[in-house]
Order: sequence, then structure tokens, then C-alpha cells
Amino acid sequence: MLERARILDEGDPLKEYRERFLVPEGVIYLDGNSLGCLPRATPARLEQVVREEWGSDLIRSWNSAGWIDLPARVGAKIAPLIGAQPHEVIACDSTSVNLFKLISAALAMRPGRKVVLSEPGNFPTDLYMIEGLAKQGLAERRLAPRETIADALGADVALLMLTHTHYKTGELFDMAALTRAAHAAGALVLWDLSHSGGALPVDLNTCEVDFAVGCGYKYFNGGPGAPAYAFVAERHQEAAQQPLTGWMGHAAPFAFSDDYAPAAGIDRMLCGTPPILGLAALEVGVDLIAEIGVERLYAKSQALSEFFRQCLSESGILALSPSGERVGRGENEPTQHDSPSPQPPPLKGRGSALDLASPTDPSRRGSQLSFRHPDAYAICQALIARDVIGDFRDPDILRFGFAPAYLRFEDMVEAARHLAEVLASGEWQKTEFSERAMVT
Ligand SMILES: *Cc1c(COP(=O)(O)O)cnc(C)c1O
Repeated sequence: MLERARILDEGDPLKEYRERFLVPEGVIYLDGNSLGCLPRATPARLEQVVREEWGSDLIRSWNSAGWIDLPARVGAKIAPLIGAQPHEVIACDSTSVNLFKLISAALAMRPGRKVVLSEPGNFPTDLYMIEGLAKQGLAERRLAPRETIADALGADVALLMLTHTHYKTGELFDMAALTRAAHAAGALVLWDLSHSGGALPVDLNTCEVDFAVGCGYKYFNGGPGAPAYAFVAERHQEAAQQPLTGWMGHAAPFAFSDDYAPAAGIDRMLCGTPPILGLAALEVGVDLIAEIGVERLYAKSQALSEFFRQCLSESGILALSPSGERVGRGENEPTQHDSPSPQPPPLKGRGSALDLASPTDPSRRGSQLSFRHPDAYAICQALIARDVIGDFRDPDILRFGFAPAYLRFEDMVEAARHLAEVLASGEWQKTEFSERAMVT
């Protein structure tokens, strides 16, 4: 596999981009879906913003350095990557706060309807934000399993709100079909693009999406707690009014009027003073992703994840039947085939196989592969101790993100080897690996 990996790396059209990121020596970073790597250009840009724009030019920089335009400027750069027009996207606040604003705006646009429909197991903050509005009597939360969502679109549904790429399994929703179904039922649609934006091509306008939000610190490499983004389709920009009516969303913030009047267009989604340091760092990450292009990134991430899966099957961690179908955990453990009477597997080999929790078809998933294992947490910690950084999602998901701008096929071989060793040796059973930190 290592030989094949080296050939693939040699022919990789994105190979030069690894140098544009600071990837720590010896680390295999499979968590770019949680916190993207640091672009090499970011520290210098921040240094410039801090020392020159802030340090020297001080308050003049709101105009002279274009600080005031930064939310719209970064939004306009994200727009083509998610299939939107430049004036339909703005970079601001967190994904959670943007969810609150857009859910509220959508509810107000569907008087007489109160239901916000989503799926159980959606990202917690998305579900909690509906709950918050429900507590104020403004919304009613309804959750339907993904196979039945289209059927749950009753005449009381104001908004269908889903996450395009599932954060745990990586499974993609059919954005076009579900948007159409929601519209046919008279509902609006809000897509959370947190695990899609910057990772795969998204076509908001082709799908006639109404609203969307997404994260800046995942595949856009904007840094920890980077500002998020919000999309409002042009046709709704007059009608969409959000409740966080801060002065930056005012039509004329520097008129200092006593009364609120929303800005025309996407600017009304702003609330308070924009975080310039965060936006400046995000801009560098977005520029880099735009330069590489989401089509090329997605193509490589699919190749990487498929290659990783092959490496795992070859090492017997993930068995594949001749038809290519995945088989259940444990079936590749030789003891089970050899002994006629079922015996408990020896401690060392206990749980030495992983169940794929993501779709096997790479076109049905985002840039990640997830596996189920009852001891996923400890396995993840044992891997991190070997500098192979993936992440764990409660209760039993071991998740690997493939940020293709800085990963090599060789990294897949190495990561799979470490994973096989951790499982075969039972190394993860050391007590130190089962102690949970605050952030998991
Ligand atoms: C990461 C993520 C968020 C994060 O929201 P924050 O406000 O940035 O904490 C929200 N939704 C989804 C689907 C995510 O994956």
C-alpha cells in the first residue's frame, strides 16, 4: 500500500498545497472537519492587522483598512463555494447565533405555522436553538427520522432545518429533493453547511434554498472560534427580519437614530461590531480554499477516504465481502471461524474490528469516515498518543476527517497502520486512555 500511496501522492494535483499549511511534523491530522489546520499565511496577516491596522492606524482602520466591509467581503468570497451570489452571504457571529436569527426570520415569514422540522441526532446546537425559540412560544420542535422527513412535512411546518453533511456519520442529505419537498408543503428550508462548506460543492441557488448557515473554523480553516456565515436567498432579503436588531444591522448605523430600521439586503443579518481579528484570519482560510477549488478538494477527499478504507480492510480491521459489502464487526476474527463452540475472544483481541458508520458510496458522504466501536473513546485517545489525531463523538463514534488540502495518501497508510496496531495490541485498554477530558 505504501508504494501505491507514494505513486498517488506523486500524481496528486493538490500536492503543492500541503506547504501552504502548517502541519506539525510527525502529526497525521484527521480532524480538519473539527478545527482546520493553520494556513501559513495567517500569522503574518494577523501580525499586520494587529500591528499596523490596529496598532498604528487605530480607529481610522474601520475605513482605511476596510474593517467595516469585512463581514460582507468574506461572505462574498464564501458565496461561490456554496452556490450563492456574493450579496447573499455574510460572515458574522457563530453558527449557533446565525441559526437563531434565521430560524426566527423564517418563522415570521410563515405566520400561522410554528413547526420547525428536523431530525433526531442533528447537531445539538441546531436542536437546542429550536428549543430556545419553543420556550418563548415562537416555535414548535418536531423531529422525524431521516427516512420519514418528507412525510412529516405537514401544513403546520414553517421551516425544514437540516444539516447537509451529518456530523457523526458524514451522510449527505439530498438537498435538491428535500428543498423541493419542503417548498411543495409550503415550508421554507434552512441548511446547516458546517460540514459541507469548503469540503464539497454545494449549490444553494440551483436547489432554490431559502436560508443556510455554516462554520468558519472547520474546512475553511478560519481558526478556533472563527466567525460563521449566513445565507439568505436574494428573493427573501426584503422580507427576512431577524430578531437580534443590533446597530450593525441598521440601515444607517452611524445616524445613531433611536429607532431600528433594517439595512437593505444581507447586511441586516449583522448584529454588533464585527470581530476583525477573527474575520481577518477567516479570510485567509477562505482565500486558500477558493484558490484550490471545492470540486478538486472533494474529488481528492473521496479518493483519500476510499484509500483509507482499503488500507483498513487489508489490515483486517474492516472486512469486505467479495461483493464489496461490508460485513459485521467480529466476522474477520479468525477465532470465530476456527472454533466450533463460541468462545469469548481473548482480551487482547477483544473488539479488534470496526463497523463503518458512514455510507460506503463516497458520493453519499462528506469528507469523512466514521466507525462504531464500543470503546471508540479510548481508541481515539490511544491514536492521539501516537500523533494520529481523529476525534470521538459520543457514545461510540470514531471519526476521521479528510481535509484534502494538506493530507497525503501516505498519511492514510500510516494512520491505518497505527489504528491496526492499537486494536491488535489492545493498547487502548490502558486506563489513561479512558479518562475523559472536558472537550472530547
Ligand atoms: C460544528 C457545528 C456547529 C457549531 O456551532 P457553533 O456555534 O460554532 O458552536 C453547528 N452545527 C453543526 C451542524 C456543526 O457541525
